[in-house]
Amino acid sequence: MPDIIQLLPDHVANQIAAGEVVQRPASVVKELMENAIDAEATSIKLIVREAGKTLIQVIDNGKGMSQTDARLSFERHATSKIKKAEDLFNLHTKGFRGEALASIAAIAHVELRTKQEDQQLGSCLKIEGSTLISQENISTPTGTSVAVKNLFYNIPARRNFLKSNTIETRHIVNEFQRVALAHPNIAFSFYHNENEVYNLVTGNLRQRIVAILGKKTNEKLVPIHEITDLVEIKGFVTKPEFAKRKRDEQFFFVNDRFIKNSYLNHAVSSAFENLLSGGHFPTYFLYLTVPTNSIDINIHPTKTEIKFDDEKTLYAILRSAVKHSLGQYNVGPILDFDRDATLDTPYNLKDKSLPNPRVTVNQDFNPFKSEEQKSIQFPYHREKNREWESLYNGLDSTGIDFKSETVDPGLFSEEKENSKTYQVHKKYIVSSIKSGIVYINQQLAHQRILYEEFLSNITVKDAMSQQLLFPLELSFNKTDIVLIKEIKTELESIGFLFGEISNDTLVVMGMPVNIIESQIPSIIEHLLEDIKNDIPNTSFSQVDIMAKSLSKSLAIKTGTKLDLKEQEDIVNKLFLCKQPDSSPFGKRTFITVNIDEIDKKFNN
Ligand code: ADP
Ligand code: MG
Repeated sequence: MPDIIQLLPDHVANQIAAGEVVQRPASVVKELMENAIDAEATSIKLIVREAGKTLIQVIDNGKGMSQTDARLSFERHATSKIKKAEDLFNLHTKGFRGEALASIAAIAHVELRTKQEDQQLGSCLKIEGSTLISQENISTPTGTSVAVKNLFYNIPARRNFLKSNTIETRHIVNEFQRVALAHPNIAFSFYHNENEVYNLVTGNLRQRIVAILGKKTNEKLVPIHEITDLVEIKGFVTKPEFAKRKRDEQFFFVNDRFIKNSYLNHAVSSAFENLLSGGHFPTYFLYLTVPTNSIDINIHPTKTEIKFDDEKTLYAILRSAVKHSLGQYNVGPILDFDRDATLDTPYNLKDKSLPNPRVTVNQDFNPFKSEEQKSIQFPYHREKNREWESLYNGLDSTGIDFKSETVDPGLFSEEKENSKTYQVHKKYIVSSIKSGIVYINQQLAHQRILYEEFLSNITVKDAMSQQLLFPLELSFNKTDIVLIKEIKTELESIGFLFGEISNDTLVVMGMPVNIIESQIPSIIEHLLEDIKNDIPNTSFSQVDIMAKSLSKSLAIKTGTKLDLKEQEDIVNKLFLCKQPDSSPFGKRTFITVNIDEIDKKFNN
C-alpha cells in the first residue's frame, strides 16, 4: 500500500484554524481591537459596514510594525508576544497565539497599513485568501490600520451561515463594549455604515460605563473594592431594584480581559440572594486583578474562558465583596455569618429596614379603560365569510344569538336585559351560540385581535396615532438604541412617532391609539427583549416578533373586569380575525360546549 498521509498546504491549514478563531464578524472585531491594544494604542477606531460582512476596519495609533514584521504578522504562529512556553504563565498581552491575522487573511480580503514612529514611510500589504497580492511603501500615519473585506468570501457555507445584519451587528456591539469597558484609559470610536455609534473619550471606569450604557446608569451603580492576597476586585454592581430581566449587562474582566465564568457569576448572584424577584438578574461590571501565574487563559481558543488556581476562595471573596458593598450602600441584607472574618469590615446594618426590590408591573392595565380610548379602534377591511361563522348560522342578523330571556335576570343583575355575553371570573366571556355555548378566554382572544391588528397595520401602513402632549424622553443603552433604530420604521407603521434618537435616549412624540402613555417604557423594553431573545429562531420575521410582543404587552389581562361593550368588542373582533381559534402563541382562544353534551349531563 502506498503512503497516504500528506501535510496540508498552509492556506488550507489556515482556513481550518480560521474556523476556530473567526466564527463571525464580531470575532474579527475582537482580534483586531485586541491587537491594537497590545500595540499600546491610545486611540482606536472601528469602522464596520453591513454588520461586518463587507468591511471591518480597525485603525490604531499604536507602535506599528516594521516592513518585515508586517509581512510576518500573517504567518501562522507568528507572534511578538511570547517566545517560550513559560511565557504563557506570565501574560500581559491579549494575544499570544499568533493565529488571528493568519486566520483572518485566509478567509477574507485584507489590507494592512502600518508605520512605526521612526520610519519615514510605512508599508501597505494586500492579502487575499492567504496569498500576498502586493506589498508597497506608502505614506501613512504612525500606527496600524487593518481592513478586512468580504469575510468568508471563499467559504460560502460559512457566509451563508451568518445571521441577519441585526444579529451580527449586535454581536459586534457586544464585543466592542467589552473591549471598551476593559480599557477606559483608551479612546474608542465606532462607526457603522457611516453612522457614529460610539465616541468614547478616556476617563475613569464609572465614566466609561456611563458613556456606554447611558447616563441613567450612573445613579444605579454601587462601587465595589476589595483587596486580598489572591485578588483585587474593583468595579460596580447595580442596585437590586434596577435588576433586569436579561443577563446582557453582566461583565467580568480578569486582568483587563473579558471573560465568561458561570461559577463566578453564581457568586455574584448569590450575593443578591433574596434581593431580586424571580426572573431578574443583577447587572455588574467587575474587574478582577490576579497574579498572571495563577490563571490559565489557554483553555479556550477565543480566550473568553479562563481557569483559576483557587476558584473556591475566589468565589467566597467575590460573594463577600458584593454583599459587603450592597450592605454598605444600604441596599442589601447584612452579611453571612459564616463568612471569612478577615474580610469583615465593621458596620452595622442589622437593624435597618431594607427596601424591597421594586418591580413595577401594572396588572390592571386595560387599554379599554384609557381616557383617550373607549374601545379597540382599528380598521377592519376583511369580509365576513369565514368557517367559524357557521357557529352562528341561523341566528339573528347581528351574528350572535342571545338567550338572555331564558336566564334569570337576577343572576346577572349587573348585565343589561338584552345582553348577549357574560363575563365569568373576570377571565372568560361566555356567549350562547347555535350549537351550544362558547367560552372565550379574554386575554388570549385579545392577543389574537391585537396581533392581527398590528400585522395589518404594519403592512398597510395606515395606523392611527395619538400625539403626546409632552414628548417622552426614554433612556436606553447603545445596543438597544441600535436595535430601536432598526425597527423604527415598523414601530412608526403601527402608530409610534419618534423625535430625536441620540446615543442613549429616545424621544417618543406619539403612540398607537390603544396604548396608554405610562405603558410606553415597558412596552418598548419588552419588545427589545423579545427581539433579542429570538436570536436562535430567525425563521420568524422581526415584524412577526414585534406584533407578538406588542400583543402580549397590550392585551387585556385575566382579572380585568369588562363591561358589555368591551365583551362584545372582543367577541366580534375575534371572529373577524383570520385565525380566531388560537392566540399568537398557539393557545386556544375559545372552546365550545355542544348543547347535546349539556343535554347528556341532564339525562344521566
Ligand atoms: P497575536 O496577537 O496572538 O500575537 P496576531 O495574528 O493577532 O497574533 O498578530 C501577529 C503579530 O502581528 C502580533 O504579535 C504583533 O506583533 C503584530 N500586530 C498585529 N496587529 C498589530 C497592530 N495593530 N499593531 C502593531 N502590531 C501588530
Ligand atoms: Mg492578536
